[in-house]
Amino acid sequence: MRIRAITFDLDDTLWPIAPAMLRAEQRLNAWLGAHCPRAAQAYPIDAMRALRDRVAQEHPQIAHDFGAQRRLALRAALLPHGYGEDEVAGAYTAFYAARNEVECYADALPALDQLKARYPLGAITNGNADLDAIGLRHYFRFSLHASDFGSAKPAPDIFLAACAQLGLAPAEVLHVGDDPALDVVGAHQAGLRCAWLNRGEATWTQLGFAAPTAPDLVIGDLAQLVEMLARSEAVA
Ligand SMILES: [Mg+2]
Repeated sequence: MRIRAITFDLDDTLWPIAPAMLRAEQRLNAWLGAHCPRAAQAYPIDAMRALRDRVAQEHPQIAHDFGAQRRLALRAALLPHGYGEDEVAGAYTAFYAARNEVECYADALPALDQLKARYPLGAITNGNADLDAIGLRHYFRFSLHASDFGSAKPAPDIFLAACAQLGLAPAEVLHVGDDPALDVVGAHQAGLRCAWLNRGEATWTQLGFAAPTAPDLVIGDLAQLVEMLARSEAVA
């Protein structure tokens, strides 16, 4: 496999997103308790989560923009209780800061250090992680966020835009991600090579996708990716 650049998914590829989201929900709840007590009482964490899910369902046009969904949900929670846009902005800031307090998987940074020395790296995410806030910006030549870009994985556009930024043909770029549909099938359909980061137990076959969408590589962690690429370079 002749790979000339690598793009990475972020959430659940470089760090687990669930603990960060939980912390963000708790931090938001505490912020509301201090600044918007009537809304905090009406929307404890479970109710806020349900509201956010409902807002997302009711506004499919912003399905690619989790930040917009969150701000809309905060407006729906706060404005009827007499709070204003300043409180919406403050609540979002509290949530978003905690959302970016991620803890990378142990294999992530050593792999990025090694891969960055050998390949241009890019990030392609449907989420709203802030690489500057997280402190990982320096690893990546660029990061494409579905919210800024205007469409999300698995549609080919965002993958092709990444290839254009790299000045490479899709077949020269390897996309690495955890999500079978968004990352593997999406990258495959755009013509990229794809590595499925499978930290769980399921096999690709068990997922039931059609055979042509199978990943080029299956890795259990990012250290394996470094090893496999080094081996394939050695025989290329
Ligand atoms: Mg992911």
